[in-house]
This record gives sequence, structure tokens and C-alpha cells, in this order.
Amino acid sequence: MAKAYQRILLKLSGEALMGNLGYGIDPAVVQEIAQEVADVVASGTQVAIVVGGGNIFRGVKASSAGMDRANADYIGMIATVMNAMTLQDALEQIGVATRVQTAIAMQEVAEPYIRRRAMRHLEKGRVVVFGAGSGNPFFTTDTTAALRAAEIDAEVIFKATKVDGVYDRDPTGDADAHLYKSLTYSHVLTHDLRVMDSTAIALCKENNIPIIVFNLSERGNISRAVAGEPVGTIVGG
Ligand code: UDP
Repeated sequence: MAKAYQRILLKLSGEALMGNLGYGIDPAVVQEIAQEVADVVASGTQVAIVVGGGNIFRGVKASSAGMDRANADYIGMIATVMNAMTLQDALEQIGVATRVQTAIAMQEVAEPYIRRRAMRHLEKGRVVVFGAGSGNPFFTTDTTAALRAAEIDAEVIFKATKVDGVYDRDPTGDADAHLYKSLTYSHVLTHDLRVMDSTAIALCKENNIPIIVFNLSERGNISRAVAGEPVGTIVGG
């Protein structure tokens, strides 16, 4: 497999690990994702992953039900660590050396986030999974993906979704919805397109990091995109 990128950051939502379940983690889905990541690593591309936690806990939802927002967000961040450790396990089961680094220290189960160490792992061909988001409440794991991508000099963010890319309107059950091949950051921001939250888009814009939005459920899509094939929608300058 050819490679167009040296170092990528893959953003997986918590829901991506849930498959068709209503909650939690579907081990079969996680194994499939791990296999796709293994293929990319085998091609020589370095892979960092930021994983969300929406399959387990969302701060905003819990705070709208009465919980203190910052507390709820910390719980959400801890939920992402469960997903990060699950991904690590699946990757290591198939022989891919993987390190989890967390933005909230949990030294018994994962390394703390240390930028230089993360980059060293990547240079050695290890996958690094970033857990616990940014470590700050009121942020999202999409923003964390933009932040970590900038910090570790990733060339691109791959944002996994359930649809083929970014549409002008919700494509579920609407055959006329138009799939964009490419978009500018400004267009996404002014039209409030649901790619990533606006903080994440603004960070990518400032640091000139393209975002490729693609369908994770189509097998082989990550490898195709990493090889430079047109997959999904590319958001850039
Ligand atoms: N979160 C946070 N700060 C961060 C990242 C995440 O407080 O930097 C919390 C927030 O409560 C969020 C939850 O963690 O609802 C899970 O993350 P997110 O909703 O981004 O996950 P995803 O939608 O990608 O599954």
C-alpha cells in the first residue's frame, strides 16, 4: 500500500466503537477498527488516535439533567480512557505496539500525556492513543484532536463518521443531499456544517491542518485515504 502521509491523527468518536449497540463498546467493531489501523501502520504511516467517550458518557447531556457541568465533563473525559484502553488492547492483540497517554494522570493504567514522548513513540512505529480529552472541561475530543494534531505535527486529521463525508443537509433518508468533495474552513464555520465543533475547526484553520471526513463503516477507507485516494470530504484552506 502506498502512503501519502508520514503522520496522521485519527479521530474516533465513542459512538464509532459502539457499532449498532445503544451503549458501550462492541468488541467486534473495535477489532475491525484495530485491523484497519494495523494496515495503515504496516504501510509505514505513523498513527495517533484521539478517541471520544459519547458511547459511555457526555458531559453536556448529564449537565442538562442537573449535574454540575465541570464534574460531568471530567466523568466524560474518564469515559474516553476506557475507550482508549479498549483500543490499545485490540491493537496489541494483533501485534501493534500501542501506548495510551492521558491528559488526566492515571499512571497505574496509562502514561501521562508528554508531547515529546508521544512523538518518540510515533517515530518508533507505535500507535499512540490519547485519552481523557484535553484534560479541560468545556472542551470536546474534536478540539482535542485539533490540538494534539498541531502539537505532534500531524499532517492531517482523519475524522471518522457514519456517512460518506460532509453534506449540505442531513443525508439520512434524503437522496437529494449533496456530498461535498472539498470545503474551506471558512465555509464550514459560516454555514455551521457539522464537521467538528467550531473551536476545533478554528484551531485547524490557524494551524493549516486539513481534515478528511470519511465513512468508517466502509472497510479499507482509512488505508485508501492514507494512500492519497479521494475518500469523503476534505476540509482545508
Ligand atoms: N470532554 C471534556 N474535555 C475534553 C474532551 C472531552 O470535558 O477536552 C468530555 C465532555 O464531557 C464530552 C465527553 O468528554 O461530552 C466525551 O467526549 P466527546 O463528547 O467529545 O466524545 P465523542 O462525541 O467524540 O464520542
